[in-house]
Amino acid sequence: MEFVILGIVLAGVLLLAGLGLLVPRIRRRAVPPAPPQAADQPEEGGGVGILAPERPTEAPEAPAPTIETPAPTAGRLVRLRGRLSRSQSVFGKSLLAVLARDRLDEDAWEEIEDSLIAADVGVEATHEIVGRLRERTKVLGTRNPTELRALLAAELVEALDPTLDRSLNVAGKPSVLLVVGVNGSGKTTTCGKIARVLIADGHTVLLGAADTFRAAASEQLATWAGRVGAEVVRGPEGADPASVAFDAVKKGVDTGVDTVLVDTAGRLQNKVGLMDELGKVKRVVEKQGPVDETLLVLDATTGQNGLEQARVFTEVVDVTGVVLTKLDGTAKGGIVIAVQRKLGIPVKLVGLGEGPDDLAPFEPAAFVDALVGTDA
Ligand code: GDP
Repeated sequence: MEFVILGIVLAGVLLLAGLGLLVPRIRRRAVPPAPPQAADQPEEGGGVGILAPERPTEAPEAPAPTIETPAPTAGRLVRLRGRLSRSQSVFGKSLLAVLARDRLDEDAWEEIEDSLIAADVGVEATHEIVGRLRERTKVLGTRNPTELRALLAAELVEALDPTLDRSLNVAGKPSVLLVVGVNGSGKTTTCGKIARVLIADGHTVLLGAADTFRAAASEQLATWAGRVGAEVVRGPEGADPASVAFDAVKKGVDTGVDTVLVDTAGRLQNKVGLMDELGKVKRVVEKQGPVDETLLVLDATTGQNGLEQARVFTEVVDVTGVVLTKLDGTAKGGIVIAVQRKLGIPVKLVGLGEGPDDLAPFEPAAFVDALVGTDA
């Protein structure tokens, strides 16, 4: 009997122990799925959190390709100085090597002259620069190549007349800028780049596609305009350039933009035709107000020939500033000096590449420093 009672108690204890073991097991089974769920929640939430920023970044990405924010213009020439590498090598390798010689004899001075002429500085300007350099070297007794280089740099800066006002005249409302030059010199590209520069500086811009001679020009200009949010006025292909220019300026006046930039065609095969066309564009535009700036776009790689062509434009319209393009593609950076000297018009901007922000305000000291750099 005692054994029977003992057996029953034992069985009871075992049963309870078994239940005790089972309950946590069931709980463990039941509970574990719950905590992972609970734990997953924040993670999921965290997942959403990770995804969420992606959605907003995806959203603003959509308009970004249409409206760009152009790079600031200040200090562009310094940033783009590497683009002048071909000119640098002419100045750097030959000229500076001569200046580094122990003795500057007659042959050495002749070599210096040859280098400047090879860099397209022009014969007259070269004689003047070298004459003054010789004089100063003698007076100062300069022998040290670093000092000689500094003297040469000072003469080149002087030849570029650092006192000239090179800012764009965009004070009018709207200010009207005509862009002229031979076809292929980079007019349309320059219009687009200038629009970017002005927009970067807070202006509103309207582009007039008055180069109706080249079918692609108006399309090209519209693409530039679209990228920075400038308005564009185009005419049908072959339309009268003067009428497109008129419409552009009229729309600029009506809509109250800050600046109207008019791209023109430059057919040079017939000087009379060019005079007629450009003269008419200018006259028609002036019916609505003065032209504030007429920029002549010149391809630096065309050298002294380009200068002759440029002179024709200065006879036709009153050019107020020169934009020298493609300085990145020539070893003849000295052309800047020749252009200013021959035309008597300040170089205001320089093109240093095909990229949208490869247009820099021209600064004589920074330019010369890039050519005969103090660390060259
Ligand atoms: P347009 O006929 O005078 O309007 O000339 P475009 O604007 O169509 O330019 C003619 C070519 O010159 C194009 O291929 C431009 O990309 C190129 N170009 C314009 N400016 C520069 C520059 O500063 N450097 C270089 N390397 N190419 C340029």
